[in-house]
Amino acid sequence: MKFETLSIHAGDRPDSAYNAVCFPIYQTSTFMFDDIGKTKGFDYSRTSNPTRKVLEDTIARLEGGKAGFAFATGMAAEATVIHLLEAGDHVICGDDVYGGTYRLFADVMTKFGVEFSFVRMNNRQRIEEAIRPNTKMVWIETPSNPLLNIVDIEMVAGIARSKNLLGVIDNTFASPYLQKPIDLGMDLVVHSTTKYLNGHCDVVSGAVVTTTDTLSEKVHFLQNGMGTCASPFDSWLVLRGIETLAVRMERHQQNASIVASYLVEHPAVEKVFYPGLKNHPGHEIAAKQMSGFGGMISFILKERSNVEDVLRGFELFALAESLGGAASLVEHPGTMSHASMPLDYRQTVGITDELIRLSIGLENADDLIDDLKQALAKA
Ligand SMILES: *Cc1c(COP(=O)(O)O)cnc(C)c1O
Repeated sequence: MKFETLSIHAGDRPDSAYNAVCFPIYQTSTFMFDDIGKTKGFDYSRTSNPTRKVLEDTIARLEGGKAGFAFATGMAAEATVIHLLEAGDHVICGDDVYGGTYRLFADVMTKFGVEFSFVRMNNRQRIEEAIRPNTKMVWIETPSNPLLNIVDIEMVAGIARSKNLLGVIDNTFASPYLQKPIDLGMDLVVHSTTKYLNGHCDVVSGAVVTTTDTLSEKVHFLQNGMGTCASPFDSWLVLRGIETLAVRMERHQQNASIVASYLVEHPAVEKVFYPGLKNHPGHEIAAKQMSGFGGMISFILKERSNVEDVLRGFELFALAESLGGAASLVEHPGTMSHASMPLDYRQTVGITDELIRLSIGLENADDLIDDLKQALAKA
C-alpha cells in the first residue's frame, strides 16, 4: 500500500467488537483477564492500549520502521529515547535543535551524567572530530527549528553506522510524507506529533519509530517503565489527523512556496530561510532527501527595530508557538519557542532576536499574502 492508503488503513483497524469504521477510543485504564495469565492482548493502558496501538503501528508503517511508540508529548518521546543511554555516555547533537530538546539535554540530562556536544551538522569532519571514546549517539534535526538548516541524513547515518553510534533524527518538521530517514540509514525517528502528524493544534503528543527488535524492546520497556505514553484520546486525535497528512502537507508546502517567494521580493525583508529557495545553503541536499520543502519559513527584517510592530501587526496569522496546524501561526523564537536557550548560545547559532518564524497553514494563499502585506507595512 502507498503512503496515502497506509495513512488511513495501516494497523489492525477493523474494530472486532462492533465493526466501527472509525477505530474507537478505548478510554480504559485496565482490561479484564479471561483467566489467570490470559488476556485479549491488553492488560493495563500504560503498557499498551488498543487505540494507541493502531496509532503506533500506523506511524511505524509510514516511517518504514519496525515498531512505533506514542508518547504524551514530543518531549516525553525524546526523554524516553535519551534514557537508552547511561551516565558517562556522550551524545553529539545538532547545535540548532528545538529549544526544548536543548533544555532537556543541556539542563536536565547532564545532571544524570550524560554528556553532550552541540555541533553544526553540515560538515563530516566536524562531526567526526566530536566523537569521543564514550560517544553512543548522534542526534539530528532536519529541517531544523527555527533556522530550517538542512543536515545530510545519509552522511550522518553513515558516520553513525561506521562508529557504532545510534543515529537519531527528529523528523517533526518534514513528517514522514516528505522525508524517510530510516531509508537513509537512521536507527530511531522521533516526532512531536503535536505538529504535522496531528495537524490541527488540538493535542500535544509524540512518537518514536524503531528499526530493530532490540531497540523496540528497549523503547517499550522505557515507555512502560517511565510512564511517558500517550493517552487513548490523544492517540485517537493523532490517528485522525494522520488520515489527511498527505493532502495537508501538499497544501502546506504549496502555500509556503508562494509566501517564501513573496517575502524574498519584499523590500522590508533582509533574508528568508526556506529550503525550497535555490539560494538556501541546504537546498540541494533537501532536494535530494525530501520529496518537498515543507510548510515552515523563517525570515529577518532589514530594520531590526521593527520586529515587534510586525509581530503585533498580523491579523490572520496568530501570534503563537507550535506549528503544523491548519491555521497559520507566526512566532518569535527569541522570546517564545527558543527562550529556553541561553541568549549568547542562541546568538552564536543564529537564532537572533530579529528572527520571525511562520507556520504556513491551509488557508487560501491570497489571504496569507494580504495579511503579510499589511503586517510588513508596519516595518
Ligand atoms: C515541538 C517540537 C518538539 C517538542 O514536542 P512537544 O510535543 O511540544 O513536546 C520537539 N522537536 C521539534 C522539532 C518540535 O518542533
